[in-house]
Amino acid sequence: MLSYRHGFHAGNHADVLKHLTLCLLLRHLSAKDKPYCVIDTHAGAGTYDLSDRFASVNREFAGGVAEILADPGLKAAVPEYFDLLKKLNPQASELSADTLRYYPGSPCIEAALTRECDRLTLLELHHHEFQNLLVNMGRDRRITIRNEDAFKLLPALLPPPIRRGLIFIDPSYEMAGDYFAVVKAIKVALTRFNTCQIALWYPVLSAWQDDSRRLVQEIRRLGVPLLQAELNVRQKDETPGMSGSGMLLLNYPYKLDEELETVMGGLYARLAAPHNGSARLKVLVEHP
Ligand code: SAM
Repeated sequence: MLSYRHGFHAGNHADVLKHLTLCLLLRHLSAKDKPYCVIDTHAGAGTYDLSDRFASVNREFAGGVAEILADPGLKAAVPEYFDLLKKLNPQASELSADTLRYYPGSPCIEAALTRECDRLTLLELHHHEFQNLLVNMGRDRRITIRNEDAFKLLPALLPPPIRRGLIFIDPSYEMAGDYFAVVKAIKVALTRFNTCQIALWYPVLSAWQDDSRRLVQEIRRLGVPLLQAELNVRQKDETPGMSGSGMLLLNYPYKLDEELETVMGGLYARLAAPHNGSARLKVLVEHP
């Protein structure tokens, strides 16, 4: 049974990294005059109220999105993200940790940055999150929402009717088998829909819990063009929990590495502990 609720973590450093990256990926896909599809395998609730009983427990957004709201470099690099925050929070004349109330999850970002001709499929296994997702995103006719196990359903969705697109994989890694399941899902996706872009999020955990190095190596071995962007807000040590996270971007668009350079620099400066955190942006497999 799933107990993870993304509301506890909405807007934290990991969300900021994954959502800025998602904005850039969607910008690239929208630049061509052809429709595309997005399959968001672990959609969550769609949007989050930062004043609710989940987000207010640890106020993780205070060390994430709230820290970058005034960063001119990040605003210039990914204006889509900041515009969406403004649009979702019309009550605030200026956004800050105290005035920011609504935070966009990946489905909300996808709905905002795709076009009329594009199509979205959102999968969410947790029944309550699925209900929230329906309420938050269900009115958009471009979107199909399913209460299913993504790892079981994904093969049946591929190849999609629109043969251009992004598979966004953002598991909670709550189940022991999730690390194995993401690799298997990516292999299937590349077999059935080899031109797809894939964005995989992964956590960097304390030294004894961490499985990220093995995961990165397994994905690298697939031999598909691969870009890694990892932000560690503190050094990995024995303290339990997440010290950072990363994105693995398969079949990444040309120039994304250059665009992410500004983003990673800004995130490192704003979110990592001085002399303790680290940022890594690396092409692990070059484009042919
Ligand atoms: N992608 C969302 C965002 O950026 O706003 C956050 C997603 S959260 C990290 C992971 C979600 O995956 C949770 O809501 C969880 O209930 C859901 N989940 C866990 N295992 C799943 C599975 N096998 N299939 C589909 N959803 C799953």
